[in-house]
Amino acid sequence: MSVRPLGRGLYEVESTSDHTYLVDLDAGRCTCPDHVFRTVRCKHLRRVAIEITAGRTPPPGETAVPCYDCGTTVFVDDDAPEPVYCDRHTIRPGDTVVDRETGDRLTVVDVSVLRADAVRIDAAGCTVAEYGSNEAYDPDVPVVGAVYPHANVARHGVVPESLRVYVFPRTRLEKPIDRA
Ligand SMILES: [Zn+2]
Ligand SMILES: [Zn+2]
Repeated sequence: MSVRPLGRGLYEVESTSDHTYLVDLDAGRCTCPDHVFRTVRCKHLRRVAIEITAGRTPPPGETAVPCYDCGTTVFVDDDAPEPVYCDRHTIRPGDTVVDRETGDRLTVVDVSVLRADAVRIDAAGCTVAEYGSNEAYDPDVPVVGAVYPHANVARHGVVPESLRVYVFPRTRLEKPIDRA
């Protein structure tokens, strides 16, 4: 039996006999004759529960989407904003990331919920999304603030410029692959 999540707690279950039934998990209902006429907890309801417990299908309220970086399926809230990342590709403050444009490594200081087209770079007089080297990236993704590694700072030089926080569209940055 294959289970396909339809959202809002509904699942389509294709039985081995090629019939397709609709399971409403929250209401505990199924459209199969067993359930309709005998009001038993049919095998389709049980199968949906098993698939959820095993992590193969998302529970009600969640949806299955591919990680933006690697395509691994992740379950997120139905209304979670895109892009979605798996645990390995989620970036957090303190993480090292790579700028896809330049190959530079940076350290993340902030992961914002604000979109690239809503955050202005004052020095450039435009939004993060409009900034020249960002034009290839989606304007509706969150922005990430990052600094260049301290190693780049000249020992007795003027520090502030090198420690400036630069703001990037999320999709321009990726986690380096660790080859253990
Ligand atoms: Zn059923
Ligand atoms: Zn991933």
